[in-house]
Amino acid sequence: MEGMAIRLQGLRKSFGGTTAVDGVDLEIRDGEFFSMLGPSGSGKTTVLRLVAGFETPDEGRIELAGQEVTGLAPFERDVHTVFQDYALFPHMTVEQNVAYGLRIRRIPKAERLVRARKALAEVRLDGYGQRRPAQLSGGQRQRVALARALVGRPRVLLLDEPLGALDLKLREQMQVELKAIQREVGITFVFVTHDQEEALTTSDRIAVFDQGRIAQVGTPAEIYERPATPFVASFVGTSNLLEGEAAHRITGSAGTYNIRPEKIRVLKESAEADEPEHATATGTVAEVVYLGDATRFLVDLDGGGRLTALQQNLETSSADVAAYRGTRVRLQWHRRHAVRLPS
Ligand code: ATP
Repeated sequence: MEGMAIRLQGLRKSFGGTTAVDGVDLEIRDGEFFSMLGPSGSGKTTVLRLVAGFETPDEGRIELAGQEVTGLAPFERDVHTVFQDYALFPHMTVEQNVAYGLRIRRIPKAERLVRARKALAEVRLDGYGQRRPAQLSGGQRQRVALARALVGRPRVLLLDEPLGALDLKLREQMQVELKAIQREVGITFVFVTHDQEEALTTSDRIAVFDQGRIAQVGTPAEIYERPATPFVASFVGTSNLLEGEAAHRITGSAGTYNIRPEKIRVLKESAEADEPEHATATGTVAEVVYLGDATRFLVDLDGGGRLTALQQNLETSSADVAAYRGTRVRLQWHRRHAVRLPS
């Protein structure tokens, strides 16, 4: 199919008695930054390895750019995998590391050099070509691994937790850069991560994995705002559920509803609902936590149920916060932010 980088149909894979991938269908478009997100053991790495050709599926079909590759060896597929441990050659310079794959493919030396330098510029490592890996920081080594992948211009780049070894600050910086680099080079990136924030900040679309299956595929906003299952609601962002009797009392219908904490405003108990589209509930502040940029309120609702509300600290300071504990409040949210979850 035109414009489709990867197409997976009915993929299954077991290891001994463990079902790692339990019926995965997925389409990834050309030029997408696509993340496979899920907890440890949910099967995302196995799907990546199936696409790369390091594993063979028990069932199902894999297409790359419209061509079936299910039985092909890794080197016969137009993909390149970047692993978390980088796997750089310590005795080679950065430039030699980057050019290595081209040497294997017998590309002439002059061209190798030009292409390696271009790839190093793409990952913002101009001028580092003569260093050895040991003379680089973790973030720089990660960029070399990326340059080595980009230099062969694969159609698809598979990245398995590539930022996992970096500290939090560097990780956040690299997330932004990875996204910028991907946009510049236009190659399809398929990124495996268990970090929901990382998936939300980098991706065009995300597949959320739950026990070997895909629970939801969508843009970051779709996944966050309209989680398809209770699992997605709790794994991506903070789940905040109205259930059972409380759901019936407040929304007028039974079921389980998820409301993101930042969508709920904390008002005085005497406040009136602003609009008919707003739902409100009164309650008592059970706990209040000052977070610097925001304050988190845990509110026990009258008649049962508990909701968390997150308020930006526009004027509140830490000194004010403790005074809220035990006070009466009214919570208010737009009805469309109460997302009904399938039971
Ligand atoms: P993580 O984030 O921890 O890597 P994951 O979501 O990528 O997790 P997988 O690595 O795909 O999950 O593993 C899915 C399941 O398959 C797990 O239960 C795992 O133990 C099992 N598994 C994966 N590879 C093998 C293997 N080579 N041999 C045996 N079991 C395996």
